[in-house]
Amino acid sequence: MMGDDSSIVQAARVSYGKGTKTVSEDRNLIRYLMRHRHTSPFEMVEYKFHIKLPIFVARQWIRHRTANVNEYSGRYSVMPDEFYLPSPEGVRKQSRTNKQGRSDEPINIETANEFIEDLQKTQNLLYEKYNWYLSNEIARELARINLPLSTYTEWYWKIDLHNLFHFLELRLHSTAQFEIREYAKIIAQIVKETCPIAYEAFEDYRLNAITFSSLEQKILKNMIQYKLPTYEEMLEMGLTKREIEEFFEKISLINNH
Ligand SMILES: Cc1cc2nc3c(=O)[nH]c(=O)nc-3n(C[C@H](O)[C@H](O)[C@H](O)COP(=O)(O)OP(=O)(O)OC[C@H]3O[C@@H](n4cnc5c(N)ncnc54)[C@H](O)[C@@H]3O)c2cc1C
Repeated sequence: MMGDDSSIVQAARVSYGKGTKTVSEDRNLIRYLMRHRHTSPFEMVEYKFHIKLPIFVARQWIRHRTANVNEYSGRYSVMPDEFYLPSPEGVRKQSRTNKQGRSDEPINIETANEFIEDLQKTQNLLYEKYNWYLSNEIARELARINLPLSTYTEWYWKIDLHNLFHFLELRLHSTAQFEIREYAKIIAQIVKETCPIAYEAFEDYRLNAITFSSLEQKILKNMIQYKLPTYEEMLEMGLTKREIEEFFEKISLINNH
């Protein structure tokens, strides 16, 4: 990595020609910058990771365009005999509420084990075929095209702290796929250890913050006056059913804090 909390402060204070002041002044400044989305000082910190990841995770990850990437080439090199397998506890049913995700409900253990065994068998079979194609002098760029999405690839991934926070906000979220979330958690831990003040501000003002639409604020105003509008009144106010449900979810999050 290049830079740390002090680089953020230094960049923000460049107009005064002064560097670090006291620790608490630095902390206040970083929190102010995060709160008011004054983002460019956070771009002064850079991270470069060497990451090994299954291709299906890489496909989600690569959508974050504000990074610099250099990936292992299956045209140039032989793909490794390494595949991702979920754990039996990780095999869950399709979620009914989130169409993109899995639910908390586990599948019965026999089916989970059978699923994993089957994945492994197919991975072995496809890798055997890959080896056969290579040994018959078929070009590497063609031989690899039937390898599964669970095949591991690797890359160098370089990104600045502002864009890394954006990545973390999206990929630490409970709606992100479990596998990419596991990577995001480790990266978050690294950022927490290396830029503790900026990470704390990120947690406070972005990761754990909840925003309210202007319509939701109307409800909150009513609530503060001890009057929660009825479901129908909320519909009349212009909120959709989905917005009302999400509003109640936010309120329950607040209650759980
Ligand atoms: C839970 C989840 C589910 C998702 N599901 C799907 C899906 O079903 N299908 C799918 O295709 N994608 C899906 N995505 C990917 C998602 O749509 C984004 O592509 C991805 O999260 C990257 O976000 P980003 O573009 O903000 O990030 P970055 O590419 O890092 O960009 C950061 C910011 O820079 C700006 N920016 C960067 N490049 C450009 C540009 N060329 N033009 C304009 N502004 C730019 C934007 O403001 C952007 O927010 C999903 C993502 C998540 C987290």
